[in-house]
Amino acid sequence: MATIIYGDQLANKLNLQIKSVVALLKAQGKRVPRLIVILVGNNPASLSYIKGKTKACENVGIDSEVMKFPSDVSEKNLLDAIKKLNQDDLVDGILVQLPLPNHLDKATVINAINPNKDVDGFHPLNIGKMYSNQNTFIPCTPLGIIEIIKSVNYSLAGKKAVVVGRSQLVGLPISYLLTKANATVTLCHSKTVDLVKQVQAADVVIAAAGAPELVKGAWIKPGAFVIDVGINRISNGRLIGDVEFDVAKQFAKYITPVPKGVGPLTIHALLSNTVKAYNLKEN
Ligand code: NDP
Repeated sequence: MATIIYGDQLANKLNLQIKSVVALLKAQGKRVPRLIVILVGNNPASLSYIKGKTKACENVGIDSEVMKFPSDVSEKNLLDAIKKLNQDDLVDGILVQLPLPNHLDKATVINAINPNKDVDGFHPLNIGKMYSNQNTFIPCTPLGIIEIIKSVNYSLAGKKAVVVGRSQLVGLPISYLLTKANATVTLCHSKTVDLVKQVQAADVVIAAAGAPELVKGAWIKPGAFVIDVGINRISNGRLIGDVEFDVAKQFAKYITPVPKGVGPLTIHALLSNTVKAYNLKEN
């Protein structure tokens, strides 16, 4: 039976370190890190994610503010607001909550963020820096996944890792980070032939497809490390992951649940990136 890694407990522990860093700044009479979250419209999932992020900031003493725009805001008005935030010395991190309404070009909006304040790590300059091994903001979910792996001192060297999903947000960057940690990575997607065979051979499975219980428990190699990134709301309102958890936990050595798995570590990584942005400016 697997050890279940509860992301909320791990994140609470890691967030205490951030809390003490912020407390020290306060004790030294310095200002605390400040994060601005931009929300366009009122997508219920976005509202819920933002609530989690601002609550986490509050818990560790990071100052945060949600800047709300109507769903029909013009691109110019949004870009002007980002420009002002870029120039504001009291703002360390800027996060634009995705998705954006269709009339706004995601790339144009992300590109407008000062790369030194891009705590989501989505700006092309930061993506390029990451893939060329330079110090930068790593996107929050992949960074959170690495924290989960580190938390049990698991060595990735020589392991076969299978990542299901090739998004810019999760699949691609985590594949790179796993490769960097010396795993041998297979990146699967919707056109992959014989996903079952790939997963069956994997020591590490990262499921990030957004497809409910796509990865069947019986595919899991005994002793594998299974990290379920997927968040899927099913008809009864319950959240489930991309992995058939109840069966997979019988085979895996380590497994993360949904909810309370990767999500809290994604938020922890955001706090960590916000402190990093602060340090970039203040030091
Ligand atoms: P995307 O929709 O951007 O990407 C999904 C990827 O999965 C695509 O590469 C797609 O392949 C692949 N895929 C979809 N269906 C299948 C299938 N049946 N077999 C194999 N591959 C498949 O999603 P994201 O990466 O943004 O998110 C993935 C999931 O993770 C979602 O459930 C999302 O809600 C969740 N998530 C959770 C976070 C957290 O903090 N816990 C943070 C971010 C995301 P193709 O490219 O061929 O279309």
